[in-house]
Amino acid sequence: MVVRTARVGLRVTLGQRRRCFGLLVAAGDVRACVLDMNRWRRQRGLAAITNFQQLCRELHQAGPGAFGELNSPCAEGILRRYSDAWFAAAKRRTDGDASARFPRRKRRLMPVRFRHGSFTIDRQRLRLAVARGRPPLWVHLDREVPYPAGQVRSVTLLNEGARLFVEVTAEVPVATYPPGTEPDPERVAGVDLGVIHPYAVAGPDGEGLLISGRALRAEAHLHLKDTKYRRRAVAQRAPKPGQAGSRRWRKYRARQRRLEARHKRRIKQAQHEAAKQVIEWAVTRRIGTLRVGDPRGVLELKAGRRHNQRLRDWRPGYLIRCLKDKAEQAGIRLELVDERGSSSTCPVCGRRVPKPAGRRFRCTNCGFSGHRDLVGGANIAHRTMGGPITTKRNPFPVVITHRRAGRHLPGARPARRDPRRRPHHGTANGSPGRPRPAPPPR
Ligand SMILES: [Zn+2]
Repeated sequence: MVVRTARVGLRVTLGQRRRCFGLLVAAGDVRACVLDMNRWRRQRGLAAITNFQQLCRELHQAGPGAFGELNSPCAEGILRRYSDAWFAAAKRRTDGDASARFPRRKRRLMPVRFRHGSFTIDRQRLRLAVARGRPPLWVHLDREVPYPAGQVRSVTLLNEGARLFVEVTAEVPVATYPPGTEPDPERVAGVDLGVIHPYAVAGPDGEGLLISGRALRAEAHLHLKDTKYRRRAVAQRAPKPGQAGSRRWRKYRARQRRLEARHKRRIKQAQHEAAKQVIEWAVTRRIGTLRVGDPRGVLELKAGRRHNQRLRDWRPGYLIRCLKDKAEQAGIRLELVDERGSSSTCPVCGRRVPKPAGRRFRCTNCGFSGHRDLVGGANIAHRTMGGPITTKRNPFPVVITHRRAGRHLPGARPARRDPRRRPHHGTANGSPGRPRPAPPPR
């Protein structure tokens, strides 16, 4: 069994919306109360209460109705999270990590988790448990939950800006295959993570997969540019320190938060789709091991603000996590290996060659030439854990499947122009040319 989580939007009436946000605020209040209580105790030289059972006792002394409609199992969930975070920090500190921090920060809104039995899913309707004596809270989901009702373990109510979501966590069985088609752990594919190609996969039998991330990069670029324009336009209205913002300023802030959230959603969606394509490709080729080059070592280096921004948009940790979750469910093993030098080593003769600036890799020693990102993937496939590039079994990919990530993004197709792009000017550099009618629908 593997644990998977899906995010589903809520469709709510004004009254339901108020109640849902009431729950989030109440959860924030529970946490704020614990933090305040412990600060108070610290100032008086008493030990902080961090034990879960003791915290629950304090909560029950507050009596029913102290936290609005939040019922006690949900409130206890908040206490559990606080207690776990506190003990995790304490453990890290005793292990000598001085940078570990105890939970101190209050938040106005906190996600609320509903455990098994405190929610009911009926197709597109969801009932969330509230405090005793309150009318039941039913909300509408904007799509059906992608798991069978029996597998759902918990539901978490959360917000992103002004939007409400639930995260549905389910225990899903590992995929089963008819005999003879299951993934074979001996068949290894190497995965190179990159910006232009989020996943470049070199598999056995001379097959490769390239997933283009150009739409993702364009989305990140346009979002940054758009944010800059907007910020410049409202800089005059920014409140001085100590001043309350004007109504127009608050409107700008709300809009900016909404756009930020939309951008994040788009990128996440595209990265998940890309990972799904990799897994589907691997399953049809019976690949049982994905060896992924972990580039996170290079992220610690300071490389200037432009490059830092590029790395932040890339989010390799998230790419690895997406792939890992989906591989686990498909019954494919995922190994992380060091990716250093993998895109500057010739996969045929093993000689180190300077990393090419373009996409084409050429070996000055043996004359081999191939796609740079697939060279990375092929070398990673041959690398043992922490060791050098050794065995050479897979031939370099000659049959390459091309896929695109972020096909749903605006501007990825000729018929849909991204509204954030500036109007183009004739044949100027970077212009998509004169306006053309959309191609006829197929
Ligand atoms: Zn060579």
